[in-house]
Amino acid sequence: MSQPTFRAPKGTFDLVPPRGDAILAVRDAMAAPLRAAGYGYIETPSFEQTALFARGVGESTDIVTKEMYSFTTRGGDDVTLRPEGTAPVLRAVLENGLHRGALPVKLWYSGSYYRYERPQKGRYRHFSQVGAEVLGSDDAAVDAELIVLAVDAYKALGLNDVRVLINSLGSHESRPAYRDALQRFLRGLDLDDETAKRVEINPLRVLDDKRPEIQKALEDAPVVVDFLSEADRAHHDKVRALLTDAGIEYEDDPRLVRGLDYYTRTLFEFVHDGLGSQSAVGGGGRYDGLSELLGGPRLPGVGWALGADRTLLAMEAEGLALPEPPGVTVYVVPLGEAAERRAFGLVTQLRRTGVATDVALGGRGLKGAMKAADRSGARYALILGERDLAGGVAQIKELATGEQSAVNLDEVVAQLAGRTGAG
Ligand code: AMP
Repeated sequence: MSQPTFRAPKGTFDLVPPRGDAILAVRDAMAAPLRAAGYGYIETPSFEQTALFARGVGESTDIVTKEMYSFTTRGGDDVTLRPEGTAPVLRAVLENGLHRGALPVKLWYSGSYYRYERPQKGRYRHFSQVGAEVLGSDDAAVDAELIVLAVDAYKALGLNDVRVLINSLGSHESRPAYRDALQRFLRGLDLDDETAKRVEINPLRVLDDKRPEIQKALEDAPVVVDFLSEADRAHHDKVRALLTDAGIEYEDDPRLVRGLDYYTRTLFEFVHDGLGSQSAVGGGGRYDGLSELLGGPRLPGVGWALGADRTLLAMEAEGLALPEPPGVTVYVVPLGEAAERRAFGLVTQLRRTGVATDVALGGRGLKGAMKAADRSGARYALILGERDLAGGVAQIKELATGEQSAVNLDEVVAQLAGRTGAG
């Protein structure tokens, strides 16, 4: 067999049916709890000014230093394919003045994200996320609400083994004392040059180092929850109490940090143990200082992003049946040119009446067309033979039983609509 000339770029893949339909169902399931909770849909461009991410995500993060798809346009603008959704959404909120209306602003979004990562299972250069952001409230109830909505989405998909990890990173009140303590501890370790440099620039990042030897050395590192101010502690306790009230099982993970710099106070991650090293199926947190960082007013916020691709892998790891394409109810089988012409009109009418319908094309013979009808999963075949047509009828055949009856052509649509509960 000859090789195709073009292939999807490294680290990317196509989602073809039925997997394409499955990922659509995953995204729908993630969005449903948000839509039912009053979140409005927002769509932003897939690329932004590079400076938005450099400033918003953090200059020293892996995303900004190593993973961005950045380029200069023909007009000389420096732009980057979005590696994440929060900074763009906040940019859009500020630009469109949504923060000047009723607060909080509750938004959800769904789309493609791009990171130049080392590809492996569950880690791609193009992936899709559904995200939610709430701007303009520092109430811990919002943090808890978001966690509950994500857990409900995973449950709706049938997932049983998603664990919720939570931590608090404190706010500007708690962070300096913690940063000092952490730096003092890290300077006492025997670290390579690059990591030692990171200790001085962004010590929290070192906690996110996945190398086993580093994780071992960090076992006795100070944890941020021991440094929380009274207000930060109260916020954290309220989130945890509300989750308990809502019946959500969560695990306190004092070592949880995430790869973006903007987080304050609540931080959480959803992990699935069936996925190997890329175990995070979603995550998020509070980012009370991000608006100011982007030149906006004080506007506290909290949000999450759930990975659709990894969630699909998690469903497979649990052995769940993936959501299937909806299929059709009626499959039309015209035999001969005149019947094909008549069938076209009937198919259109059936579809407009709400009966999901497909049709055999290209003058297929009865045998081939009936095979296609079976494969389509339809309940009924509507057969239009030349003799039927001459007699002004068509045959409705129930495919499971083989039961067949002739129906007047002008009653076919109403009959099928009635039998299938459409119309
Ligand atoms: P993050 O913005 O890194 O917190 O990502 C949120 C979620 O998106 C993660 O928990 C993953 O499920 C998913 N995700 C992030 N990066 C990738 C990637 N490179 N490939 C596939 N999924 C990803």
